[in-house]
Amino acid sequence: MAHVHCLLPYIFIHVIFAHGRSTQKVLLVSMDGFRWDYTNKWATPNFDKMAEYGTKAPFINNTFITKTFPSHYSVATGLYEESHGIVGNVMYDPELNETFRIGNFDPKWWNGGEPIWVTARKAGLRSATFFWPGSEAEVRGIRPIYYKTYDKSVLFKDRIKTVTNWLKSDIDIAVMYFHEPDATGHRFGPDAEETRAKVIEMDKVLGDLMDKLEDEGLWDNVNLIVTSDHGMTEVDFRNKVVDISTVVDLTAEIERTVDAGPIMQIVPFPDMRTNVYNNLKTLDNVDVYLKEDIPDFWHYRNNQRIMPILVVAQEGWSIVTNATQASVIPNRGNHGYDNRLMSMKPIFYARGPNIRRNFTATPFISVDVYEMICSILKIEPAPNNGSLARVQQFLIGENDALKSDGMRNNFAYLRSDVSAITVLVFMSFVVFA
Ligand SMILES: [Zn+2]
Repeated sequence: MAHVHCLLPYIFIHVIFAHGRSTQKVLLVSMDGFRWDYTNKWATPNFDKMAEYGTKAPFINNTFITKTFPSHYSVATGLYEESHGIVGNVMYDPELNETFRIGNFDPKWWNGGEPIWVTARKAGLRSATFFWPGSEAEVRGIRPIYYKTYDKSVLFKDRIKTVTNWLKSDIDIAVMYFHEPDATGHRFGPDAEETRAKVIEMDKVLGDLMDKLEDEGLWDNVNLIVTSDHGMTEVDFRNKVVDISTVVDLTAEIERTVDAGPIMQIVPFPDMRTNVYNNLKTLDNVDVYLKEDIPDFWHYRNNQRIMPILVVAQEGWSIVTNATQASVIPNRGNHGYDNRLMSMKPIFYARGPNIRRNFTATPFISVDVYEMICSILKIEPAPNNGSLARVQQFLIGENDALKSDGMRNNFAYLRSDVSAITVLVFMSFVVFA
């Protein structure tokens, strides 16, 4: 009895200091369309500062297709697109017999994945979102404590002020989204002077955010992660266009087409599949796949929202059903292509108490970010496609305790000091009874 009694102080210390409620917080930021090499091409001193005080990956590998809604939801859920079910900015669900477009937040489209702000709330933490694709949807019956209806006119400095105040109060994890430099990259292309100017402006936005975290004394417990959904490449809607109507009959052979540009999904009439496929195969500058033949490395096949035929354009080319309409599109940049192309890859920077300083990380996969955040917050991740092992290279501090699987099954997920005290009371009862 006396022997057990002597252990109590150690148990107390162990529970409170190693496994009590985490004081660490996370701020996940996306700057849409921020191609990995923008910070190499142009002077971005605040990104440099972030790398010096934290970790930078030269680039990260994102998910296919490289479009805004699917890619962002992969970051938020740790799932490939076929698993979370947001397989396009535009998609068709044959079971629902409905078409999804950006701005649709009906839960029936979003429940395939569990975003970090929902996982956090399920674990008893407080989450908040300031614009992130999917953050306006109620997912699996749960919403963040605070969320905002998307309005791109909200000034970036106002977004920063609100999010910083959330973290200063009782929010444990916040996510924040900026629609630049994507919008400018689309309009002018990834090499344009206008895009350079916008990237420099976004660098200043990052500087303002870091200053605000500094002013509020938040660097002791906030881990800031800055990433993006995809890159950007030069397109030419006048000359680099693949018009499928030149080889297939849009009314007699095809029930519907879904999406256009870097990819197009096609639903042929049932008896037309082979014919349509063979005819599409005669087109130059695209790759054509029957659904069952879509390569494994894209993790883009096993979902009813992926159509029977997938057409993927070569970099810079656009797939259309009407070349004349395409020729009037003024945009010079686009994304959505093969995620193996360097032009499609996004940035990654992180800084904070759980992040290694002045460290260059080996590139990992955007689906690993979800596991990374769960580890920092000490919460149980939902099933996902990410790997904590791939990001452990730059995670330090308290979460080291979580790196052993044994710990995960014992005290690591005691979520509050109340739980810890309950354990102590119980143990005292057992010992002294
Ligand atoms: Zn985007």
